[in-house]
Amino acid sequence: MNTKEYVEKVYEQVLQRNPGEVEFHQAVKEVIHSLIPVFEKHPEYVQQGILERIVEPDRQFIFRVPWVDDNGNVRVNRGFRVQFNNAIGPYKGGLRFHPTVNLSIIKFLGFEQILKNSLTGLPIGGGKGGSDFDPKGKSDAEIMRFCQSFMSELYKYIGQDIDVPAGDIGVGGREIGYLYGYYKKLRSSYEAGVLTGKGLTYGGSLARKEATGYGLVYFVDEMLKGKGIKLEGKTVVVSGSGNVAIYAIEKVQELGGKVVACSDSNGYIYDKDGIKLETVKRIKEVERKRIKEYVSKHENAEYHEGCRGVWTIPCDVALPCATQNEISKEEAEVLVKNGVKAVGEGANMPSTLEAVDIFLNNKVLFAPAKAANAGGVAVSALEMSQNSIRYSWSFEEVDNKLKDIMKNIYQNSVRCAKAYGYEDNYVIGANIAGFLKVADAMYSQGII
Ligand code: NDP
Repeated sequence: MNTKEYVEKVYEQVLQRNPGEVEFHQAVKEVIHSLIPVFEKHPEYVQQGILERIVEPDRQFIFRVPWVDDNGNVRVNRGFRVQFNNAIGPYKGGLRFHPTVNLSIIKFLGFEQILKNSLTGLPIGGGKGGSDFDPKGKSDAEIMRFCQSFMSELYKYIGQDIDVPAGDIGVGGREIGYLYGYYKKLRSSYEAGVLTGKGLTYGGSLARKEATGYGLVYFVDEMLKGKGIKLEGKTVVVSGSGNVAIYAIEKVQELGGKVVACSDSNGYIYDKDGIKLETVKRIKEVERKRIKEYVSKHENAEYHEGCRGVWTIPCDVALPCATQNEISKEEAEVLVKNGVKAVGEGANMPSTLEAVDIFLNNKVLFAPAKAANAGGVAVSALEMSQNSIRYSWSFEEVDNKLKDIMKNIYQNSVRCAKAYGYEDNYVIGANIAGFLKVADAMYSQGII
C-alpha cells in the first residue's frame, strides 16, 4: 500500500467509526491529506500508527446539565468534554455554549486544537468542550446556575496538570468567573491554572481578552509583509462582533487598515467611513444587544439582514471571525471576484474545503485558523505560566510574547510548506509544522 492509500484507509476508518459527524470528518480530511509527504519521509510514523491514534480522542465525556430557570422550570442541556491528545502537555481548549453544539462540533474543534496548540511552541495538548445551552436572552442568575451545574460534573475530569478549559463562542469572562468559582468551591482549593480567560483580579492574564484578535492581525500582517504588501490603507471586512472580531478590528485600525463591515448571526453592518469600534463594543460587550443597533447611532451606516451577505462587500482583506463554514464556495468566488488579496481565519474552520481551494487556486494569501487564531490559546498558556509562578506580567510583556509567537508560527508554516514542496501554501505548512512535534512526542512515548 502506498502512502496515499494508507491515508485514505485511515480516513475511511474515521468515516465508519464516527457516522454523521460531518464537521469532524471535514477537519480530519483537511489535515490528513496534507500529511502524505510527511509519511513518505517518516515511515516510522506509519509503523507506529501515529495517524490512527491521533484521530481517536483519548476519551470523551457526555453529561446531563440540569438547571432551573427564573420561572422555576427545570431545563436540561447536554455537556461535552473531549480530551483529544496530551502528548505534549495537559489537554487545553475552550468551552463553547451555543445551541448548535454537538459531539461532531466538539470533536472537530478538539482535533484542530491538537495541532494549533503544538504550533504555539508551548507545552499544551488538545481538547474541547461545551454545551448546547444558549446564553442569549438568559439572565445573569440563569447563566450562573447553568455554569454551576455544568461544573458540578466537569470538575471530575479537569485540573491544572490534566485538562485546562477556557472560553469560546458564548463563554466569556462572566461564564469563566462562575465556572471557576464553583470549581474552587467543589475542590476547596485555589487552583488558578485550571481555567484560563479568568478575570484580572483572580489570576487572569493581561492581553488574554485581546489575544486571538490581535494575534490574527499580527499573523496576517506578517503574511502580507512577506509579499511586500502593507496592511496600512487596506479595506478590511470582518465577520462576527464577538471577542475575536472586536479585537481583530481594534488591531487592524491601530495598524492603519480600514474596517468597513462586521456582523452577528442576524445580519451585518456596512460603514463606508470605517466602523466605530467604541459603538460596537458598547452594543456587544456592555448592552449585549444586536449589531443592528449600530445604525441608530451612525446614520451613514447600513444594516442588512442575513450574516452571509457581509462577504459581498469588496475588500482587500477578509477576516472571518464568527463560526465554522461561514464562507462556502459561493462566498469565496464573490470575494475573489471583488479582488480580495488576503484571507485570515479568526474563527475555527470558517471556510469550507471548496472555499479554501478557491482561495489557493486564485493565489489569495490564505492564513488558516489553526495558525492564524492560535494567539488566544498561546496567551492562555502564558496565563498558566503566570499562575504557576504566582506572578503577573505587564500588558506589554504579554503582547510582545504574543507578537513573537505569531511571527514564529508564520515562519514555521512558511518553512515547512517550502521544505515539503508546497511553497506559499500555509494550510499544508501549518498542518505539517503542528503535526511533526506531536508525532515526535507520541513516537517517543510508545504505544499508549
Ligand atoms: P463570541 O461568542 O464572542 O462571538 C461569536 C460571534 O460570531 C458573534 O458575533 C456571533 O453572533 C457570531 N456567531 C456565532 N455563531 C454563529 C452562527 N452560527 N452564524 C453566524 N454568526 C455566528 O465568540 P468568539 O469571538 O470567542 O469566537 C468566534 C470564533 O473564533 C469561533 O469559531 C471560535 O471557536 C474561534 N476562536 C475563539 C478564540 C477565543 O479566544 N475566543 C480562540 C480561537 C478561536 P451572535 O452574537 O448573533 O451569536
